[in-house]
Amino acid sequence: MKKITIVSGKGGVGKTTFTAALACLCANDGLNIVLTDCDVDAPNLAITLKNQEVKRNDIYSANIAVVDESQCIGCQECMNHCNFKAIKWSDENNKPIINEFECEGCGVCSLVCPQQCIQLSPIKTGELIISESKYGFPIVSGELLIGRGNSGKIVAEAKKTALKLAEQNNSEVILNDGPPGIGCPVIASLSDSDAIIILTEPMPAAIHDLKRVLSLAWHFTQEVGLIINKYDLYPPLISQLEEFARDNNLQILGQIPIDDNVPKALVNLSPIIEYAPEAPASLALKEIYNNLKTYLNSKD
Ligand code: SF4
Ligand code: SF4
Repeated sequence: MKKITIVSGKGGVGKTTFTAALACLCANDGLNIVLTDCDVDAPNLAITLKNQEVKRNDIYSANIAVVDESQCIGCQECMNHCNFKAIKWSDENNKPIINEFECEGCGVCSLVCPQQCIQLSPIKTGELIISESKYGFPIVSGELLIGRGNSGKIVAEAKKTALKLAEQNNSEVILNDGPPGIGCPVIASLSDSDAIIILTEPMPAAIHDLKRVLSLAWHFTQEVGLIINKYDLYPPLISQLEEFARDNNLQILGQIPIDDNVPKALVNLSPIIEYAPEAPASLALKEIYNNLKTYLNSKD
């Protein structure tokens, strides 16, 4: 089983559109796949694939402090020791008030409380959704609740569930749609990948963003390929991107042109290769799929 993760140094380069198309190309080619949406801040991969939700579970990946007020003597030790300023004081009740959005669950307040009346309690941070796409493959999406942290743990949960599903189904490929940037959820998405695809576009900040995400990717695998989306957006930058790829031993798996059919497909909630199979972007995607297959087979 191959685990392939698709990331980009920044948002808005068309990563989810690309992943949805790649998943459909895999399925059309008879591959048994599982898709994971690791963009837990804004998971929308399933929506673009006309999914049917089959299961939803809560994720408790963090703790917060909870005070048993009946035992509290109002000494303020907890508030004085909270480095995250998560405890305010209620003069009215002479008791601490924990701000659950500020509490990091470090447990210091619990340690210093002379009454031992503070416990750490698990709190819901997200949801895990399993759905079935119209195209016959399952999608596992992690969704972070508003105001909660621990996005990396939500990604890890989603990937764990996807792996279990893939093992049950004897899947050949897991495709992970990673979040943009280089933060904690990106690191969680990249871990344990057999191959990583970085999507970029020819914009002035592209090389800078690429360097950052590539240095992360190399921590997990040397099998990193590059795709240039909207390559005709600013052609003078293409030679710079090609030079960067050459210098860093990155295979350019393909280039996708600007194509009006892409936004139209998005509006119709349809992967571009289904909406307009002969459109320039679809033809480029099919070529990329073939290049990817050749590339991965050469590594077996
Ligand atoms: S668990 Fe840590 S962050 Fe939360 S209230 Fe206690 S000391 Fe503050
Ligand atoms: S440390 Fe314990 S006893 Fe003191 S104010 Fe906080 S909760 Fe109450």
